[in-house]
Amino acid sequence: MNQTLQNWLQEQLDELKRQHLYKVPPILQSAPGGRVLLNGKEVVNMSSNNYLGLCTHPRMKQAAIEAVEKWGVGAGAVRWIGGTMSIHDELEQKLAQFKKTEAVLVFQSGFAANSGTIPAVMQEGDVIISDELNHASIIDGVRLSGAAYKKSEGYVYRHKDMNHLEAILKRCGHFKKRMIITDGVFSMDGDIAPLPDIVALAEKYDALVMVDDAHASGVLGEHGSGTTSHFGLYGRVDIQLGTLSKAFGVIGGYIAGSRLLKEWLINRGRPYLFSTAHPPAVVAALIAAVDILMTDPEPMKRLWENTRYWKENLQKLGFDTMGSETPITPIYIGEEEKAQKMQQRLFEEGVFALGIVYPTVPRGKARIRTMPSAVHTRKDLDDALEAFAKVGKEMGLI
Ligand SMILES: *Cc1c(COP(=O)(O)O)cnc(C)c1O
Repeated sequence: MNQTLQNWLQEQLDELKRQHLYKVPPILQSAPGGRVLLNGKEVVNMSSNNYLGLCTHPRMKQAAIEAVEKWGVGAGAVRWIGGTMSIHDELEQKLAQFKKTEAVLVFQSGFAANSGTIPAVMQEGDVIISDELNHASIIDGVRLSGAAYKKSEGYVYRHKDMNHLEAILKRCGHFKKRMIITDGVFSMDGDIAPLPDIVALAEKYDALVMVDDAHASGVLGEHGSGTTSHFGLYGRVDIQLGTLSKAFGVIGGYIAGSRLLKEWLINRGRPYLFSTAHPPAVVAALIAAVDILMTDPEPMKRLWENTRYWKENLQKLGFDTMGSETPITPIYIGEEEKAQKMQQRLFEEGVFALGIVYPTVPRGKARIRTMPSAVHTRKDLDDALEAFAKVGKEMGLI
């Protein structure tokens, strides 16, 4: 029987390789930063979500070290079974102030927050209406819920198409609850959801709104508090998800909303109920991260300066950056094989920029995804641009 599994795995993997969809994770041999040692080579890193450079922030490292000394290395239990330390509580209070919501509940990751929250809130007799480009963790959360959600049944709207969303809402009046769910910033395209229009439609058709701000956290809005703040929609978005793993530089996810929502998720959010609490070093570093975001505007300012410089120069070179509006800057390639080839050539030229292929993006829409950050120097970006120009010409993209 075991041999059958091994044979099956080999066949599947060979097929992925044949389709140029096979992944080999590169190995980082230095701390995350603008320039890193990767697979034995020093390269400019254009593929990290460490938007603000907080992965290596001295205050956060110090907070983590002190927390290890005081609290140890593990929480020892699931949150409600005795794994909640006073620092977990402190982090959630700080995040609620940061988000200007009644309450925040922290999960082990953004993925866990989505897959735990959506099924806890949406049940049989409800409907979930999704943007077609929503993140995989939203899709998994939606699938775990008892609600109607299927694309084949017409509950998935074309990317950012508000006429399509309204047409779907019009025929969903008979469901008990309707939820519209969207990425705030789309993770593979870097464009921003039309949240004011979504909220207006939700109010018109009595739907609730959930926004996944994984790539807006630390990037958009007041102090980087996300798309609800960016668009001035305080109090009009029912459920906001943020990640603590990207711009916040550590690991975790959270749900911001009402006190009742938090109470419900403490009782019904399965990753919260059945998986162990964050270790103290993580929590202490995150408390420091929120303080840094609330008091130091410099990292966000540098992030956006670098973003403008990077996008402008790629466009000047003639690359198609797919209408992205945030630090996430895809470069359109199309064919999977070409994207993988481009990633390899860029690496040889001293730049790490990941080729993104199916299933992360649709087949035939492969791209190289780049993310400038606050820690890139002008020289890092200029060196990377030079490599893109050279390889882009070589491959006939520009
Ligand atoms: C990365 C990401 C997540 C998952 O966040 P983690 O904290 O890394 O688990 C969720 N949603 C979106 C849109 C993301 O890009």
